[in-house]
Amino acid sequence: QAKDAGRGCFAYFSEDLTLAARERIALESRLRRAIEQQDLRVFYQPQVDIISGRIIGAEALVRWQDSVEGLIPPIRFIPIAEETGLILVIGEWVLRETCRQGRQWLDAGLLPLTLAVNVSPHQFRRSDICDLVATVLSDTGFPASQLELEITESGLMDNQGNATEILNCLRGQGIRLAIDDFGTGYSSLACLKHFPLDLLKIDKSFIDDIPHLQDDMEIASTIIAMGHILGFKVLAEGVETPEQLMFLQEKGCDMYQGYIKSCPVPAEEFVELLRNQQRLVD
Ligand code: C2E
Ligand code: MG
Ligand code: MG
Ligand code: MG
Repeated sequence: QAKDAGRGCFAYFSEDLTLAARERIALESRLRRAIEQQDLRVFYQPQVDIISGRIIGAEALVRWQDSVEGLIPPIRFIPIAEETGLILVIGEWVLRETCRQGRQWLDAGLLPLTLAVNVSPHQFRRSDICDLVATVLSDTGFPASQLELEITESGLMDNQGNATEILNCLRGQGIRLAIDDFGTGYSSLACLKHFPLDLLKIDKSFIDDIPHLQDDMEIASTIIAMGHILGFKVLAEGVETPEQLMFLQEKGCDMYQGYIKSCPVPAEEFVELLRNQQRLVD
């Protein structure tokens, strides 16, 4: 079939690949510079208790503040960082910055929050991840009990060999463990029960079409029910509408994140959200 496509077509594809490859190399070196010049930022998206409606934590999400392009979303650079190994540097920086910020919020008297940090499959594959986290916690003085690490299904499944060992080591420090984007990978709930996890995050793609798609509603409520049977808390990602929120409340989902509450915001804006919430109580 490749032959049938003819020469012109082949030339087109190879030029295309070269261009893509060149763009990737350019992006990689820009990203290296961005890390050196400290152009990365951490944004915080509230995690909300579904019954009280109160913010109980936040997910730390990295951004690239480029002087020309402005704010570059992670989807543009995380995949390349993952392939080149730069994710190790970025991931450590996000962890450190989040713990530093968390400690500062504690010292400022803000109520104790759980801060969740994403751990990429590449990071998780490294057996020194447990030591790294211990070092960052002791350097920053952020309590382990307030740190949550989010691992994707693929991160877990790619590394079945010593995943349990790593998870146990992290949990031994008192850190909480979440499985991110649940439902998009290849793992089953039956498989997850062997891992020491605390929280299951239902991927946004299952929330988007609630209340219009019966299948997704059944999938979401099944994940909630089975997650609870296995002893996990369940959080829904990407909640945007009151209908979605009501459905999840009815099904007993524990927490949510989504634009209906807030998109990811810089640290100062997150503090503003917390203060407003506090004001409502006082
Ligand atoms: P994720 O960990 O599943 O993060 C949730 C993503 O969903 C975030 O996108 C968030 O802004 C978005 N989101 C949350 N609520 C809503 C909503 O109601 N509507 C819509 N349309 N979107 C919503 P973001 O910040 O662009 O991050 C995308 C992905 O990039 C993350 O997915 C995560 O896989 C990766 N990522 C971000 N920061 C880091 C990091 O520090 N380390 C690693 N390894 N990955 C990161
Ligand atoms: Mg996440
Ligand atoms: Mg997610
Ligand atoms: Mg996601």
